[in-house]
Amino acid sequence: TISMAVIDKRGRIAAGTSTNGASHKIPGRVGDGPIAGAAAYADDDVGACGATGDGDVMMRFLPCYQVVESMRQGMDPASAAKDAIARIRRKYPSFIGAVFAVNRLGVHAGACHGWLFQYSVQDATMNDVQVFTVHPDAQ
Ligand code: ASP
Repeated sequence: TISMAVIDKRGRIAAGTSTNGASHKIPGRVGDGPIAGAAAYADDDVGACGATGDGDVMMRFLPCYQVVESMRQGMDPASAAKDAIARIRRKYPSFIGAVFAVNRLGVHAGACHGWLFQYSVQDATMNDVQVFTVHPDAQ
């Protein structure tokens, strides 16, 4: 899965997901990619979120919607990402997945469970790409 969020120079924010669903693909499966709030969500007033992982579990929690709404309520991106993952983990302790969160100012963070998660960030110059590694939560 590739989930992506973009903030343009006017502050407009978009998010999207592309997945081949390879790990779980069965005929007719929709998956989490096209479900708004599951694998991606954005709001110009707040920020955006993208997800990857076990979509059949994660889509039940709309983790990206949760992250954006938590940031809207004042949570920083790192806390919002951790909280969204924790909400899933409490019900499905063995799920594998991750989210990234970015607020409208470009402050970003990731959280994951069951695997190491890496995401990359390209800055406004469009030249420099940095890769961030997120270690799985301890619980
Ligand atoms: N979330 C995707 C799916 O369940 C898989 C992935 O993130 O790799 O289709």
